[in-house]
Amino acid sequence: MTDTPTQLFIGGAWVDAADGATMPVDDPATGEILCHVADAGPKDARLAEEAAVQAQQEWARTAPRARSEILRRAYEIILDRVDELAHLMTSEMGKPLAEARGEVAYAAEFFRWFSEEAVRIDGGGGILPDGRNRMLLSRRPVGPCLLITPWNFPLAMGTRKIGPAIAAGCTMILKPAPQTPLSSLALAAILKEAGLPDGVLNVVTTSRAGEMCEPLLRGGRIRKLSFTGSTQVGRILLAQSADAVVRTSMELGGNAPFIVFDDADLDVAVDGAMLAKMRNMGEACTAANRFFVHSSVADEFGRRLAERMGALVVGPGTRDGVDVGPLIDRTGRAKVEELVADAVERGAEVLVGGRTPEGPGSFYPPTVLAGVDPESRLMDTEIFGPVAPILTFDDEDEVVRRANDTPWGLVGYVFTEGLERALRVSERLEVGMVGLNTGLVSNPAAPFGGVKQSGLGREGGRVGIEEFLEYQYLAVPVR
Ligand code: ADP
Repeated sequence: MTDTPTQLFIGGAWVDAADGATMPVDDPATGEILCHVADAGPKDARLAEEAAVQAQQEWARTAPRARSEILRRAYEIILDRVDELAHLMTSEMGKPLAEARGEVAYAAEFFRWFSEEAVRIDGGGGILPDGRNRMLLSRRPVGPCLLITPWNFPLAMGTRKIGPAIAAGCTMILKPAPQTPLSSLALAAILKEAGLPDGVLNVVTTSRAGEMCEPLLRGGRIRKLSFTGSTQVGRILLAQSADAVVRTSMELGGNAPFIVFDDADLDVAVDGAMLAKMRNMGEACTAANRFFVHSSVADEFGRRLAERMGALVVGPGTRDGVDVGPLIDRTGRAKVEELVADAVERGAEVLVGGRTPEGPGSFYPPTVLAGVDPESRLMDTEIFGPVAPILTFDDEDEVVRRANDTPWGLVGYVFTEGLERALRVSERLEVGMVGLNTGLVSNPAAPFGGVKQSGLGREGGRVGIEEFLEYQYLAVPVR
């Protein structure tokens, strides 16, 4: 912890907030303060904006190969420091060390992927239909970007945005979540070490997100917003982006259905459920939020899931053998408790868990609820905790209709051994991603994103870099 930066990173230098403000970073396993970091205000936002704007032109002219190699070096440095970064992440966010290591590797992959994409940005061109005019198409970086990330994947949500922005030749301001600023500051130090020029990446940690970001979005110099967070905040930022017609990519909330048909392989379905529900203690926008299980297999599925969930070890993420760390804070836990209490009041049966432990930290046990009333609040709220609510269905049309009956459309999970049914149901789900007989869809080489109120645009894959590029068309008549 001692050499982790705690200041703002602006124009390649580590600086205090202009008004000297700091904010505490808590350890969710103990509730105690880990350290203090700089708490940026509007003045710091202006300085970061100035640095990003100043660096933009020259950065856009940098050779794609040079940008690629910076990303590649950063990828290698991250892999050399997996343990160190994983400890830092666990200390500020809570996830078990094994999962933190997994996230560090996943985060690094975005840099490797976009280091490969940086040199594959292609334009195009051709002869226009009149046979006389030619067009030349080139790709230009969109310009200085504001990147806003959440606390649940402190490193990967940053690299998923920074990677394509660097590859495309954009400069940027990264504003991480106030709960998990340390991973982003460590990442900035790594990128500096990898040779990223001053001003290309600026990191401002703050507890005053609204105050800091609104003038940036309305000011006209920031040309792109890439946001991952709640739909509620996303809507506010979309409205603020309208003024200066800022391009936006939005990765917002989810309400993932997890559908188990009567012909599913239940071993595969339960494994999938454990992944889709328990990755990150359920604190993921891709987390299975509603389990629809065919009535003929629901009891068996519930029994097996409860057995697996009940066997998980809950404790501080740094301790050996722990499977489930604390939730991010007590507010997050209180929300989970309320949702479970509401479901139980409406008749749900608690198969396992459901009881908040005594003691420090914000722990909540893996919980399975059966016979959940569809009117329960957790059916239309992101639970963001280790709670699996099970409902039953009898008919394919009915379950598709119920799965789609939500304003969100990020991801869905479908378990069946029937190929045609698998394809038919997947295509009818109003979601950006489907896990077919798997509980994990995230991959740097695949386009991540949702439809409906789950967002706009895609991150990762071949299209991830597109979000940071514009076309420029040159009209060339040939006489
Ligand atoms: P969560 O509920 O998971 O914390 P939020 O949408 O509240 O999700 O937060 C996601 C990110 O958005 C965080 O970095 C947070 O600080 C930031 N954020 C929250 N409110 C605003 C705002 N009004 N303007 C800019 N960023 C914001």
